[in-house]
Amino acid sequence: MSRYALKAAATRARSTAWSLRATGRQERGLRILFYHRISDDRDELAVSPRNFRRQMDFLATEAYRVVDVVQAAELLDEGRPPGRTVGLSFDDGFLDVAEQALPLLAERGFRATVFVAPAVVDGWATFGWYRSQPPLLGWDEIAELDREGTLRFEAHSLTHPNLLALRDAAAWEEIVGSKVSLAARLERDVLAFSYPSGLFGARERRLVAAAGYRAAVSCEPGVNTSATDRLVLRRQQVDRRDRLLDFRAKVGGGHDSPLPLRGVYRRRRYGMGAGSLNLASSRE
Ligand SMILES: [Zn+2]
Repeated sequence: MSRYALKAAATRARSTAWSLRATGRQERGLRILFYHRISDDRDELAVSPRNFRRQMDFLATEAYRVVDVVQAAELLDEGRPPGRTVGLSFDDGFLDVAEQALPLLAERGFRATVFVAPAVVDGWATFGWYRSQPPLLGWDEIAELDREGTLRFEAHSLTHPNLLALRDAAAWEEIVGSKVSLAARLERDVLAFSYPSGLFGARERRLVAAAGYRAAVSCEPGVNTSATDRLVLRRQQVDRRDRLLDFRAKVGGGHDSPLPLRGVYRRRRYGMGAGSLNLASSRE
């Protein structure tokens, strides 16, 4: 059994337990979902357009308000309990997000944040995990889409490194440099940051605060409340293998803690120690 199949099996078991326990009821607080690609490609980071449509239909049918990450942070600042509200985000800025997700979001009046790494958009850095990198949105498209407003673009570092492995000056350049670069392209202030691969520690959080970001998102699952640190907002990944029940359970709070084997996957993908450092730093 591959690790992805194992993860899917663990997810299903937990979704089933949630549906029996909660009978589909949403627990308190605001959850933020994240995706990478919306595509039928054989890529573990791609959710199929068909599944994505079913997920958005579920949110629309259940009368969820779907907001971007900056709006989500503002709702938390206002302190009112945002019932039936979900934050939506896409990491890395793939072209298929505009082609496949955008029309479905716009039709339903949903908003989402897309986190982009300017040096990767420019083409002088690449995402290291692809042998053949799928097409990304270009600057003209990013600026135009941002003005339309359904998709809002925010920063994801310059080159998408493991920030934990960088010296202070290089980490600062990645964090503040991506804000400055993206703001120049969008001709507006950039307010939110997504830690590349969800890897961060106390230093990265401090640099994100110093750079003037108002919100930053991790890849730690869980619910956000007005007490949650705005620079370590929790997010839940929607996976390629998720069934609609898994999606409903993720929205409803059935997956608010990490799966038991998650640290193992992360260490295999990002190198020894990354998972444990990340977990240690993000559990307040
Ligand atoms: Zn990323």
